[in-house]
Amino acid sequence: MGTDDALVAEEVTVAFAGVKALDGVTFVCRPGEIVGLIGPNGSGKTTLLNVLSGFLEPAAGVVRFRGGATRGWSPQQYARRGLARTFQGVRPFAQLTVRENIEVGAVGVGASRREARERASDLLDELGLTELAGTWAGILPAGSQRRLGIARALAAEPDFLLLDEPAAGLHEAETDAVIDFIGSLRETRRIGVTLVEHDMRVVMRLCERVQVLDNGITLAEGAPAEIRTNERVLEAYLGTGSVGRAGGS
Ligand code: ADP
Ligand code: MG
Repeated sequence: MGTDDALVAEEVTVAFAGVKALDGVTFVCRPGEIVGLIGPNGSGKTTLLNVLSGFLEPAAGVVRFRGGATRGWSPQQYARRGLARTFQGVRPFAQLTVRENIEVGAVGVGASRREARERASDLLDELGLTELAGTWAGILPAGSQRRLGIARALAAEPDFLLLDEPAAGLHEAETDAVIDFIGSLRETRRIGVTLVEHDMRVVMRLCERVQVLDNGITLAEGAPAEIRTNERVLEAYLGTGSVGRAGGS
């Protein structure tokens, strides 16, 4: 399968003060697929998202977006070309309303004010935020903040979406709402989703393919069912409890 329409990292390496956060990692996300990116804390997941979205330039390796090398692109250029992301620590503009935060996502990629308003109304509705449209984003509870982060990213109408732990810190019902929404993207938009997630339950339910990072390298890659029983993966997660949560339901 070619990767000319995909988001690709080829053997990327990133070091912080000499310590390699990523060491020759290759990653592919194709249009329409939800790829899970998992691994213990500190394994390099967020760093890989930062590389894929232009927030970090790799010391070695290349990122390709729809066939073209992206070296030198700013995060804004990525956004305009169809890539959007959310952040692990949600950071809405606290002094703007929920609606305005979503509009910023649209205006940021060149939408007119009218277009931005329309997209915001649709997304408020889709993400169940309409009743909170006029609320200051800074005072939202965690679950709504996560959904706002996703709405703001989608306001840019991306072809690829990178989500950094969208369910972290959420209660079970809130997690389910986020999972359902991400799953619904498959039907409503044919975008490629890279999902960084700690909660294996989320990954199992959503992803057709999973890549496991450990200490900056790829430990395993495959279908969720394979990953779940992979010895090396279980070993890497030992003691964290994350894989255990994939059992049962
Ligand atoms: P994950 O998202 O999988 O928890 P990260 O990508 O955030 O992991 O971090 C990978 C490694 O890189 C960790 O050892 C972390 O301490 C280190 N790291 C990440 N960002 C920085 C940074 N800005 N400066 C120094 N070290 C960093
Ligand atoms: Mg992280």
